[in-house]
Amino acid sequence: MKYKQLVMDFGRSVMKRVRSSPEDLVPPRRRSRLRHDPLLEDFANQLLKAVGCRSLQARVFWNPSLRTTAGLAVWSDRMVVLNPKLVEVSSVEVQRTLRHELAHLLAKHRAGRHRIEAHGDEWRQACADLGIPNEARCHELPFKRRRFARKFFYACPECSTILSRVKPLRKKAACIRCCRKHNGGQYNERFRFRPIGRPDKIAA
Ligand SMILES: [Zn+2]
Ligand SMILES: [Zn+2]
Repeated sequence: MKYKQLVMDFGRSVMKRVRSSPEDLVPPRRRSRLRHDPLLEDFANQLLKAVGCRSLQARVFWNPSLRTTAGLAVWSDRMVVLNPKLVEVSSVEVQRTLRHELAHLLAKHRAGRHRIEAHGDEWRQACADLGIPNEARCHELPFKRRRFARKFFYACPECSTILSRVKPLRKKAACIRCCRKHNGGQYNERFRFRPIGRPDKIAA
């Protein structure tokens, strides 16, 4: 009876650990993409030690499935997850985001059972201690989604369909709608897009 209980408890604790594993944060097919970074992790824990926090051990991972989120902190796993796109921005940005997320863990750790605001006074203090005073609360990457201004416009001489492009057309391009309608889908000079100025409104 006692043994059975012990096995059950053990099973439960294993399940608990499995459930709270970092892999749970990402969809199953992308689980393997979560990358542990022992070097950054070591650095993060040295930072914590330097501010007198020895009882908190942080784990550091990269998650390529993050889109515009620069990073996040998962308190239940004492874990910082970073977006690999940060590397393309700069190493300074990696450092800053690591400290920003680490500050979340540090603030939570210091607060103990007290509930704290995500970006409240405790977090700001932790940021200052970790060397990033006046840190912004924003988690979004500075580059967000790239949006190129469309600068080149063309029109079909037949149906006036407008084509907008980021780069100029290099090859001859004709209006597919008119080519299909009037020419059996074959290219015809008659329907070739002609450059025009910036129209007032662009449909798409
Ligand atoms: Zn934050
Ligand atoms: Zn056309």
